[in-house]
Amino acid sequence: MRFATKNHNRTNVTLAAVLVALVGLPGILVGVQELKFKPGWNMFSPQQDVQVGRENAAQVDKDLPILQDATVERYVNELGRRLSTYTPNNRDEYVWRFKVVNSPDINAFALPGGFIYVNRATIEAAQDEAQLAGVIAHEEGHVVMRHGTHQASNMMLAKGGLGILGGLLGGQGGSLGGQALESIVGLGVNSAFLHNSRQAESQADAVGTYVLYQAGYDPHAMVQFFQIIEQKYPQRSLQWLSDHPNPENRIKNVDEEIPQLGAAKQWQTDSPDFEAVKKRVLTMPPPPKPRPQASAAPGR
Ligand SMILES: [Zn+2]
Repeated sequence: MRFATKNHNRTNVTLAAVLVALVGLPGILVGVQELKFKPGWNMFSPQQDVQVGRENAAQVDKDLPILQDATVERYVNELGRRLSTYTPNNRDEYVWRFKVVNSPDINAFALPGGFIYVNRATIEAAQDEAQLAGVIAHEEGHVVMRHGTHQASNMMLAKGGLGILGGLLGGQGGSLGGQALESIVGLGVNSAFLHNSRQAESQADAVGTYVLYQAGYDPHAMVQFFQIIEQKYPQRSLQWLSDHPNPENRIKNVDEEIPQLGAAKQWQTDSPDFEAVKKRVLTMPPPPKPRPQASAAPGR
């Protein structure tokens, strides 16, 4: 993930000269920075990410209390789609659809293909738009780095996936055949798509920070928010921590990444739209009581 800096002084001088030459061409410079983000191996095609994401999203929409409020929904979709235009790697292949879950727990999650859910409590706990943007940009990092289907691919390989691999090699053009895809859809969201490794978390952090910077937000906002929720609302962020295990050296990694993104600038932190939406959700009736199987958290 990191740029290799030691033992490559000559390369770095050359690279620096190239970068200086490109400073006047921001589009190309963005392209150079994007190159460091590489997804892991994957049995799925990006189109299949969308397909399995859509099927699982239909189930999630039934299982979770989705907040039905056009104003909040429009705001989160506009913010999320704007951020998605700065993501690296195949961003145009994905759907970028955002929903708000009416839950008192601070959480957010992404299904393959760009189906992203943000809990109501996340909007309430964010101190400004940049922090909410940080959460969304992190989730978009999971989407474009294809962590869900990468993880599912690993699971399939581990569980005697040789037969599936055989089918895969049987002329499906390097992606899963219909039958294998059926079995993966049957795995369900909880087993495969939401259990990110610490390595995947680090990568989502790096992409999220990159997206914040490119979109003009304070790139520190994402990890700031993660620190706030873990310190201030530990009971309400248990699900977040379970879906998103804390990567090692999270803060150090992000602090090292930010200077590489470019010069510090006048970063945006907040917007009147965010403040209006936050006030709106704070004054709504309390979220419905979680169904028994959904509340693993002790206490409330
Ligand atoms: Zn994550």
